[in-house]
Amino acid sequence: MSDLRELYQEIILDHGKRPRNFRALVGADRRAEGYNPLCGDKVTVYVKLADGVVKDVAFEGTGCVISTASASMMTKSVKGKTVAGVERLFEHFHQMIAGESANPHSTDDLGDLAVLAGVREFPTRVKCASLSWHTLRAALKGEPSGVSTE
Ligand code: ZN
Repeated sequence: MSDLRELYQEIILDHGKRPRNFRALVGADRRAEGYNPLCGDKVTVYVKLADGVVKDVAFEGTGCVISTASASMMTKSVKGKTVAGVERLFEHFHQMIAGESANPHSTDDLGDLAVLAGVREFPTRVKCASLSWHTLRAALKGEPSGVSTE
């Protein structure tokens, strides 16, 4: 249980219990759905895109605390970014949670997202943490039918 306690850090619990930007986004021009059958996490991501910039982003869904917290932190960190900037951030984030980061200092740009680094110890949780990101990328690419982590 000590490993789990480390994983479920305070900031993760806070985002899991009180997710930010948890709503349907009125006027969203992009939307995608994601599903992680391993855990049962479901998420819908809404994006308002203008001139290649994420003007607003929100999500709805049901899932474990990791998937909810990760989606909450994601919406905070991608708002105002260009699509290319979102892609770079995702790559960094994914390298971190998949334990593939070549440079341990490269999490500097991740901000709060860095607290999710602990999921790399729990391979099934990596899918929980990355679900909302894969769904966001599907939305940005205009693939509303969405993604499944399987
Ligand atoms: Zn989950």
